[in-house]
Amino acid sequence: MAVCEDCRQEMLTASSCTFTHSEIEGHLYRRLWYGSERPDWGAKSGKRCGDCGVEPGGIHHCRCDIERCPKCRGQALLCGCASKVWCFNKDVVERLTGGGSRET
Ligand SMILES: [Zn+2]
Ligand SMILES: [Zn+2]
Ligand SMILES: [Zn+2]
Repeated sequence: MAVCEDCRQEMLTASSCTFTHSEIEGHLYRRLWYGSERPDWGAKSGKRCGDCGVEPGGIHHCRCDIERCPKCRGQALLCGCASKVWCFNKDVVERLTGGGSRET
């Protein structure tokens, strides 16, 4: 059993992380889904991600070995993109992109 630190879902049963974007050097990027990598790590044959356990087509849970950086396409864990912030959830993205500011 392993729970993703970010979306709080059980990694072996969740089909995708709910944290869909990353901020890199001030820009918001949509994170790359499992199956977009080369090689595909078995995604095409329906295997769940060997590291974080998402289903093919799902967003990797944070700090997955296999996830690629949406900016440089290097390994996300190791690439050198400066000031990279992984794992924005939907609320944060909406706030950043101005979609519905909700002051309370
Ligand atoms: Zn997650
Ligand atoms: Zn993964
Ligand atoms: Zn990068």
